[in-house]
Amino acid sequence: MKNITLLIIKPNAVKKHVIGDIIQKLENDKFEVLAIKSFVMTEAIADKFYEMHKGKSFFPKLVDFMTNGLSIAIILKKSNAVLDLRNFIGSTDPQSASKGSIRALYGDDITRNAVHASDSDENVLREIPILFSDEELGNNKIKL
Ligand code: GDP
Ligand code: MG
Repeated sequence: MKNITLLIIKPNAVKKHVIGDIIQKLENDKFEVLAIKSFVMTEAIADKFYEMHKGKSFFPKLVDFMTNGLSIAIILKKSNAVLDLRNFIGSTDPQSASKGSIRALYGDDITRNAVHASDSDENVLREIPILFSDEELGNNKIKL
């Protein structure tokens, strides 16, 4: 399992027309796309997906942002995928994200930080089934 992870291109990055650029950068960095879909996050999905942040001051703002626009979910394969993708996207706040990282390039602020990436193998297994049905995973020959 250690070679699979989940990326979400968040609504602010989709609106900037950088979906293609982000995928190109990922592929240049040897990430392989296993599955990809567009979706608009519902409040119910946001509640589940971000359940560990419920009750935090930024939670309402985060849900409002994530449910107002199109997102792209991508299942990616690479050795050491989780850690590599977290390094690739940069830290949560775009202002402190390392130069050249996706969040430094395309993040607007700490809420609208362009992308999500799973932070552990455990969360890969929790998050992917929230966004992809068994049928979608099966159609893409993905076994979690
Ligand atoms: P991530 O794993 O780097 O995405 O960060 P977290 O899991 O801690 O937070 C989830 C998402 O909530 C982040 O990507 C941001 O969109 C948002 N977020 C996190 N921390 C803050 C914060 O302190 N303020 C605000 N406004 N948003 C935050
Ligand atoms: Mg997180």
